[in-house]
Amino acid sequence: MTAAPSALSPNFDAIYQSIPPAVTLIAVTKFLPVEAIRAAYDKGVRHFGESRVQEAIAKQAQLSDLSDLTWHLIGHLQTNKARKAVEHFDWIHSVDSLKLAQRLDQAAQELGQKPRCCLQIKLVPDPPKYGFEATELDSLLPQLDQLTHLDLCGIMTIPPQGASPDTVREVFMGAKTLADTINQQGFTRLQIAQLSMGMSGDYREAIAYGATMVRLGTVLFGSRPLSPPAATPYD
Ligand SMILES: *Cc1c(COP(=O)(O)O)cnc(C)c1O
Repeated sequence: MTAAPSALSPNFDAIYQSIPPAVTLIAVTKFLPVEAIRAAYDKGVRHFGESRVQEAIAKQAQLSDLSDLTWHLIGHLQTNKARKAVEHFDWIHSVDSLKLAQRLDQAAQELGQKPRCCLQIKLVPDPPKYGFEATELDSLLPQLDQLTHLDLCGIMTIPPQGASPDTVREVFMGAKTLADTINQQGFTRLQIAQLSMGMSGDYREAIAYGATMVRLGTVLFGSRPLSPPAATPYD
């Protein structure tokens, strides 16, 4: 009998052990079957990242026997799905507009929850990507500080696809600097304690520049399918 193919990359253990204890490893399982989540869970991983609300809901239903998972939404969120996102995720890393933040705040109030959120920031020009530009964000901070039902405690950033090592460093250093700048302004609620940055190709640099959460898919699981597993909707 041959063993079932492993849901984990052969390097899983080495990479898992190389993440400093102070850094939260978020295993990104978009498009992967729930077996991948179970395999990582058996290794000790408790934080999982998904890009799409509906896909995550379908997986959560299949994993209801695991009660100690923390779910992170890392993909762009449409405002009409804000309520579902609050219902099904502990963290939302992709808060990329004031309007979305306000919708999330309203949903959180209605649901009696206080989701932890990251502001997604673009630190260098990157047209295809969502996110606040740093200058734009500056003028919105007072309004974001008034959202009493959100715990806006982080910044999330992604360097542009194919960025040079210099640009990647500029982005990571920029995120740290921006967090420090926000924290010095003495807002009532806004305190950026978390830097969500670093993916499979750049997480070592991200950690060196102060990441507190890394979002890893490919290095943990191998290359992923181009669409979700059959049992989960693409949405
Ligand atoms: C898919 C994804 C990741 C993981 O990417 P890998 O390169 O496979 O590690 C991390 N963050 C976000 C926002 C993603 O969409």
